[in-house]
Amino acid sequence: MNSQLQDGFGRSIDYLRISVTDRCDFRCVYCMAEDMTFLARQQVLSLEEIERLARLFVAHGVKKIRLTGGEPLVRQGIVGLCAKIAALPGLRELVMTSNGSQLGKLAQPLADAGVKRLNISLDSLKPERFAAITRTGELAQVLAGIDAARAAGFARIKLNAVVMQGRNADEVLDLVDYAVQRGLDISFIEEMPLGQVGRSREESFCSSDWVRERISQRYSLIDSAEQSGGPARYVRIQGHADSRIGFISPHSHNFCATCNRVRLTAEGRLLLCLGHEHSVDLRALLRRHPESDAPLLDAIHAGLARKPQRHDFSIGGEVQVLRFMNASGG
Ligand code: SAM
Ligand code: SF4
Repeated sequence: MNSQLQDGFGRSIDYLRISVTDRCDFRCVYCMAEDMTFLARQQVLSLEEIERLARLFVAHGVKKIRLTGGEPLVRQGIVGLCAKIAALPGLRELVMTSNGSQLGKLAQPLADAGVKRLNISLDSLKPERFAAITRTGELAQVLAGIDAARAAGFARIKLNAVVMQGRNADEVLDLVDYAVQRGLDISFIEEMPLGQVGRSREESFCSSDWVRERISQRYSLIDSAEQSGGPARYVRIQGHADSRIGFISPHSHNFCATCNRVRLTAEGRLLLCLGHEHSVDLRALLRRHPESDAPLLDAIHAGLARKPQRHDFSIGGEVQVLRFMNASGG
């Protein structure tokens, strides 16, 4: 059997995103409902199960793994898991997406464990707004986490901001200033309709084109063909060689044609596309076949053959995907 993973449209799959927990210390308005029920412990993959799957994927051509969640840093044992995954022969890079709340204490151990790059979510630089958007988060703690990450020697740090009219759209320039002054990258994300979060997403929707126009009022942007292996389109900023600005635009610029990734949920479902419910239950197979990876690999290949060609989110109307983002592995 061809050891390289490929989908039915000939796209090579070399990027795996793993949600290591559905839990989080924040309750961001675009991601979760205020009152969430989380998975029971036995429903979530154990650290050993995650490592086993990571090993299998890397042995079959996956070059990049992103750990995410939920908040990956609230999972006990996360640093040890990072060290094991980072050491897998053939893996080019282990990266992580975090809300930053635990980085004050964990940034250095993560860098030492072999995590190469970090994405850190930061939607506002105003403490009250930050608290309102995250519902439970404290801005000062996250800013201290970002500073700790800068000191820890990661190859790159990127900030992620979901832009919403009426909440933080007026802070786009301030967020760019913050990133540029520190030589960080920053990506602006269009909100996606994942899960019923108890508010209309339509009225706050903010397109990447609008964000770019806003940034152009202060900075000269230079189009760039750079790719980070993710869905962002990047621009460079005249006079600020260290920072790039990314736009992640699931609505306005569909990025499916170059999709190279699949996601593993915290409960061990392999999601073939963020915008569809197609999935493969790898947890059942992991637990049924503790000694043999062959049934897992067969199921992965069969699943990939069914990976949808594209997603198509609409801004208004019904929620199209019932999963919450924290369960999908952002
Ligand atoms: N807890 C970590 C964090 O917030 O960075 C990692 C998981 S979070 C689900 C990953 C990313 O997804 C974050 O940058 C977050 O802003 C983004 N996100 C969550 N819900 C979203 C939605 N409905 N639309 C677009 N981005 C979303
Ligand atoms: Fe938690 Fe990240 Fe979702 Fe915010 S976006 S609630 S930090 S998982």
